[in-house]
Amino acid sequence: MKMKGFAMLGIGKTGWIEKDVPTCGPLDAIVKPVAVSPCTSDVHTVWEGAIGERTDMILGHEAVGEIVEIGNLVKDFKVGDRVIVPAITPDWGSLEAQGGYSMHSGGMLAGWKFSNFKDGVFAEYFHVNEADANLAILPDGLDPADSVMLSDMVPTGFHGVELADVQFGDTVCVIGIGPVGLMAVAGSALRGASRLYAVGSRPNCVEAAKAYGATDIINYKEGDIVEQIMEKTHGKGVDRVIIAGGNNDTFIQAIQMVKPGGRIGNVNYLGSGDYVKIPRVEWGCGMGHKTIAGGLMPGGRLRMEKLASLMETGRLDTSKLLTHRFNGFEHMEEALMLMKDKPRDLIKPVVII
Ligand code: NDP
Ligand code: ZN
Repeated sequence: MKMKGFAMLGIGKTGWIEKDVPTCGPLDAIVKPVAVSPCTSDVHTVWEGAIGERTDMILGHEAVGEIVEIGNLVKDFKVGDRVIVPAITPDWGSLEAQGGYSMHSGGMLAGWKFSNFKDGVFAEYFHVNEADANLAILPDGLDPADSVMLSDMVPTGFHGVELADVQFGDTVCVIGIGPVGLMAVAGSALRGASRLYAVGSRPNCVEAAKAYGATDIINYKEGDIVEQIMEKTHGKGVDRVIIAGGNNDTFIQAIQMVKPGGRIGNVNYLGSGDYVKIPRVEWGCGMGHKTIAGGLMPGGRLRMEKLASLMETGRLDTSKLLTHRFNGFEHMEEALMLMKDKPRDLIKPVVII
C-alpha cells in the first residue's frame, strides 16, 4: 500500500512524495497522525544540512496519533488507542539505554530516529519502534493539538532545566524564548527558580515568557545580554543558564554570565560552524567550576506520562505556544515555512489532520 508524505528531497529541498506504508514489527506500532507540528530542528536538517545529506526522507518528529496496527508482542497498546509520540524513540535494550543515556542508543544521537534515520511523522502513516516503551496513551480530556507539544517542546525545554540543574531559589537566565525556551522558562518556574531572566525579542514570545514565569525580559537586540544581566544582578551573574536559542557564540555569553559553581544547560541544536569557544578568563582560567552540559531530549513512555500529568493537573498549559493552527495535511508545507521564516507573531504552528 502507498502513502503520501512531506519530505526532505535533499539539502534545501522539500516536497510531497509517495512511499510504501511502513511495516509493523512484533514490538512496534503503525500510527496515523492526528496532530503534528514542524520543529526548528526540521529547519536545521533541511536548510542547513546539519545532519548531512538525506534524500526523500519524510520529515517531522512531533505527533499525536492513533494506532492502526500493532505488533503481536506489544502488551499495553491496541489498535484505536490515541497516543503521544515522543520525538526520541530509543532502543531500550541497548547498552547506552542501560547506561542512562537512551537518547544515544545505538550511537550518538541515534535515539532520534524520526526524520533522521527513518521516515518521520509528516506522513499518512508512520512506524514507532518498541511501542510499549516509546508511546504513551493520550489522556482523556487533553486536547491533541496542545498535546503535540509533549513530543518535543516540553521534554526538550524541561531537559534544559535538568541539564542546568535548577534548584529552589536559583537565579536563572533562559537564552532564547521560542517554544523550546518557553518550556525551559515554565520548567524553571516549576523547579523553584527565583529571578528568571528570559532572552528574546518576538512580542508573542515575550508575553508568553512572562505568563510562564519570567520575571525579567532581556532583549538581545537592544544591547549585549551579558551587560544587561550583570547590571540586573549587581555584577554577580546568575546561578543557571539554559541555552535554547542563539548561535555558537552564545556559549561565550553563557559562561560570562554564570556564577562560579553554576551550570549551563544547552538544548540548542547547533546547525553550522566547527567550534564552540570557551572564554579562558571568564571560565576561571579552567578552574571556575562552571559546568557546561548539552543534551538531546530523553524520550520514553514514563517521561511522556509524567509530563502529560502536568497538563492534566493544570500545572502546565501548552496552549499558549500555539499561535498558528491549520486544519488538513495539505497545510504541512505552509506550517514548516513558518518555522523557517519565523514571522514576528509566531511561536509554534500545529497541523490538525
Ligand atoms: P526559535 O527559533 O523559535 O527560538 C529561538 C530563540 O532564540 C528566540 O527567542 C530568538 O529570539 C532567540 N535568539 C535568536 N538569536 C539570538 C541571539 N543571538 N541571542 C539570544 N537569543 C537569540 O527556536 P525553538 O524554540 O523552536 O528551538 C530552539 C532550539 O532547540 C533550536 O535550535 C532547535 O533545533 C533546538 N531543539 C533541540 C532539541 C533537543 O532535543 N536538544 C529538540 C528540539 C529542538 P527572537 O525572539 O528574536 O526570535
Ligand atoms: Zn523537534
